Amino acid sequence: MGEPADTLAARWAAVRRRVDEACRAAGRDPAGVAVLPVSKTFGPEVVREAAALGLNRFGENKVQELREKTAALADLALEWVLIGHLQTNKARDVARLASEVQSLDRLELAEALHRRLQAEHRAIDVLVQVKTSPEESKHGLPPEQLPAFLDRLRDYPTLRVRGLMTLAVQSEDPAAVRACFRQLRELRDAATAAGHDLPRLSMGMSGDFPLAIAEGATEVRIGTAIFGHR
Ligand SMILES: *Cc1c(COP(=O)(O)O)cnc(C)c1O
Repeated sequence: MGEPADTLAARWAAVRRRVDEACRAAGRDPAGVAVLPVSKTFGPEVVREAAALGLNRFGENKVQELREKTAALADLALEWVLIGHLQTNKARDVARLASEVQSLDRLELAEALHRRLQAEHRAIDVLVQVKTSPEESKHGLPPEQLPAFLDRLRDYPTLRVRGLMTLAVQSEDPAAVRACFRQLRELRDAATAAGHDLPRLSMGMSGDFPLAIAEGATEVRIGTAIFGHR
């Protein structure tokens, strides 16, 4: 037997297997951890191939790409999840095209999305992105602002707040990475105790998802390990 074929199907199967293994290692039910395939930078033809494997929900980080792919793939019933930093002036396209936003990190954006969603007569699921790493390049709400932010989001009924999202610090030290994921879980637990219903934790990417699963991720966002290097 040689190496398994390096196809999208083989990479997807390997990722799902590794996620299941990480769940078992953490004593968790694999059914409790979803994989969000992140198709950013890959063209519509690649997403079409993934859709043929049964994947129907994809993460994107740029509104321009979201626009191009939804147009090219309008014949498929796909759901699009915004995971990248979002400018308020792009809220209109997002309100029209996305099924979910995981990068909600400020009130100005909540206000813009809500206004556009009202105009579209739509409501979407949102996750609040929290900054758990000190890196300047990482976006997200400062953790200490989360309680007040969640209270304010009650004013925007088109935004169904379902949980929290984060990106861990980029580090060779697994303890440092894991601390980011733990912080997000603890913030969620505190918010739950304060009366918010936040079942979802989106955390973990190709390079660090087993640590995120060990800390309670309900969803891992996987690009490279499924689609290849960008
Ligand atoms: C690109 C991206 C991912 C996926 O990263 P990989 O390392 O390719 O798995 C996950 N989350 C966000 C916010 C991203 O922008």
